[in-house]
Amino acid sequence: MPAGAHADEPHDARVGQRLNWLRAGVLGANDGIVSTAGVVIGVAGATGSVIAIATAGVAALVAGAFSMAGGEYVSVSTQRDTERALIEKERRELREMPQEELEELTGLYRQRGLSADLARRVAEELTAHDALAAHAEIELRIDPEDYTSPWAAALSSFVSFAIGALIPLLMILLPVGDHRVWVAALAVVIGLLLTGWISAALGGAPRIRAILRNVLMGSATMAATYLIGTLFGVAVS
Ligand SMILES: [Zn+2]
Repeated sequence: MPAGAHADEPHDARVGQRLNWLRAGVLGANDGIVSTAGVVIGVAGATGSVIAIATAGVAALVAGAFSMAGGEYVSVSTQRDTERALIEKERRELREMPQEELEELTGLYRQRGLSADLARRVAEELTAHDALAAHAEIELRIDPEDYTSPWAAALSSFVSFAIGALIPLLMILLPVGDHRVWVAALAVVIGLLLTGWISAALGGAPRIRAILRNVLMGSATMAATYLIGTLFGVAVS
């Protein structure tokens, strides 16, 4: 592979990929905060038993982290299989009908706004350079060298969910007696302010709105499970 033109391309791709990872990590942490807060605050609404709250919280953390990791593993694996199959099909087509594939590439560049002559020249030069990469990029929109590992995606979901889940879990176990629900809820709101702010900043979205939405949804979750927990606690006691 020639150096020159290619040299800075992987660099850009890596920066984009790192941003995606960061975004996924923040979302995972956000999920961990909200769902675990819902569980521990709900149980705390029903009972003052610290053992019961801790047990439910640890179970919520473990179950959530495994479920996120499993979901991520399956989705990335499936995506990767799909991309590999498409690349294989393209490789075969390039081998078996190179002329049709050249016409196809020319057509795709014409659709993008190049004149017939220029589209033809671009298609010919790219085909001579790396036909598969050219088709993968413009026809399939896949980077053949950029496959995310399903295991890495699963592990990072697991870790980010668990880190988020630790916030409500540790806070509700602080020795503050009857104030534990409020202490945990406050910590959760602060955590959601942070995750909302970071994901808005990464995505370039308006920050205040994203933060408000995030805090509101999390607070609604806690209010709902607390209410249900309280009703349940009254019913069984
Ligand atoms: Zn093609």
